[in-house]
Amino acid sequence: MTQSIIIIGAGISGLSAGCYAAMNGYEVRIVEAHSIPGGLCTSWKRKGFLVDDSCHMLMGTAPSNSYYQIWQELGAIQGRRFVNYDYFAVVTALDGREFRLYADPDRLEHHMKELSPADAALANEFCGYIRRFADFKIPAGKPAELMGFLDGMKMMVGILPFMKLFGALLSLTLDTFAARFKDPLLSEGIRNANYGAPGSLFSLVMPLATMSRKTGGYPIGGSLEFARAIEARFIGLGGTVRYGTRVTKVLERNGRATGVQLEDGTELEADYVISACDLRSTLMSLLDGSRIAPVHKEILELDTLTGPVTQIAIGADLDLSDSPAAQLEVFQLPKPISIGGRRFEWFNVKNYAFDPAVAPRGKSLLLSMFICEWSHWEKLKGDPAAYQAEKERTAEVCIEALEAHYLDIRNKIEMVDVATPLTYERYTGNWKGTHMTWQPTPEFQRRYRFIPKTVPGLDGLYLASMWTNPPGGLPGAAEVGKWIVQIICARDGKRFMTTIPPE
Ligand SMILES: Cc1cc2nc3c(=O)[nH]c(=O)nc-3n(C[C@H](O)[C@H](O)[C@H](O)COP(=O)(O)OP(=O)(O)OC[C@H]3O[C@@H](n4cnc5c(N)ncnc54)[C@H](O)[C@@H]3O)c2cc1C
Repeated sequence: MTQSIIIIGAGISGLSAGCYAAMNGYEVRIVEAHSIPGGLCTSWKRKGFLVDDSCHMLMGTAPSNSYYQIWQELGAIQGRRFVNYDYFAVVTALDGREFRLYADPDRLEHHMKELSPADAALANEFCGYIRRFADFKIPAGKPAELMGFLDGMKMMVGILPFMKLFGALLSLTLDTFAARFKDPLLSEGIRNANYGAPGSLFSLVMPLATMSRKTGGYPIGGSLEFARAIEARFIGLGGTVRYGTRVTKVLERNGRATGVQLEDGTELEADYVISACDLRSTLMSLLDGSRIAPVHKEILELDTLTGPVTQIAIGADLDLSDSPAAQLEVFQLPKPISIGGRRFEWFNVKNYAFDPAVAPRGKSLLLSMFICEWSHWEKLKGDPAAYQAEKERTAEVCIEALEAHYLDIRNKIEMVDVATPLTYERYTGNWKGTHMTWQPTPEFQRRYRFIPKTVPGLDGLYLASMWTNPPGGLPGAAEVGKWIVQIICARDGKRFMTTIPPE
């Protein structure tokens, strides 16, 4: 008899789990609270512009990257064009000096040495890390739960040559590394190139390494289009999605998950339930809060989330199409600004000139993203007027900052859109509106080899979202969806199968 699976959430992890489950002969239904697929991987139309949200840096866009095969199996990349950025970031100081973080490490090293001969040794070291990790293949195969001795050995052979350096770069903060540069432009450039996000040196080196091989970029058409391709693959495999329906409870009988209850009281039964949404709400709300493994408890108590972010999109009747393909332009501000409860001395903006789907011909979409304080926005939750006023103030601060760079912009603005952590929380239910999860420390990884995807005392329920595959992100979300189906197939004694749809 065909076994059935219900998946909570049609984000990338839920869609991925759905596709793999359908490929393996399960009858699959996804229940999604929102009216569209994608979850955080989304875009929205405003006054003729497309505000894109997620695929700034999609890993796995070329065959040499470990995630390429997953995107192929999910039908996400067939027939799709990708932009490979020329620059990770172009950083400009107030005095006009420009630090271009080329995606090509040879050009980057040359440029850094030209900017500051006194930092030549450090430029060597930095670009050496990028070259070294360009050859690193993130192991994307079986879940840790199913790895036998031989699998472990095979993985170790791939990882071992990188282990020491990996540990060193994870333990070294960007701030500490940046402080070693003598030239303030290089120092501030390294510190601010990645949205000024506090993190390890590895968090900058790894995306640069990916870009250097042209295996990570931006999908033309944007994030929602990307998610819709996976939804189409799922439906093509026979799956169904019920949109606009919130799951309120995981049903159980005798220690076994038996289905889900919907907000209108309807009960849907299934042999397995996969929760592909926020971890906290799954454990505390969809379950009764009593089945929390110690590692999950630790995650819920963490105050080191990567986000959340405040995102400001501006559509303008300005033709900026001759700009280079940079993931980000970063410029120093004459005076600090305050966004989302934090102070910024450097402003970031992304010009989507490389995607014709984002702005009407001859016009431009500029997008800025700032890591912010959840508490700053949370306190405005019950006060719509104050919330709106703070969004308007945020937009004004950004427009002022942009005026220094694009002189005529104020009079050419046609669209302004501000998304806050409350926006992300409202649309996806993610805790504190976060867009990623957190970066596990080496100490955490020593204690927990992997994050469990089951809960104590309840069989047949699996946890599939980005939360169980930190630090989050699109490939991790897709991967964890695949892992869960591998685990279910193994317990059902089935050989796990995948197929690749044609171009
Ligand atoms: C601004 C921004 C920039 C980003 N940049 C990048 C990037 O450059 N590269 C990268 O790899 N990643 C990036 N990410 C992160 C990436 O988008 C996410 O990590 C990934 O999409 C998470 O997928 P998910 O399926 O785990 O969760 P989600 O996308 O949160 O999906 C969960 C789904 O479950 C639904 N749901 C929740 N509760 C219920 C319920 N009770 N009943 C029914 N449905 C429910 C939600 O509506 C949602 O659709 C970015 C994200 C944002 C927001």
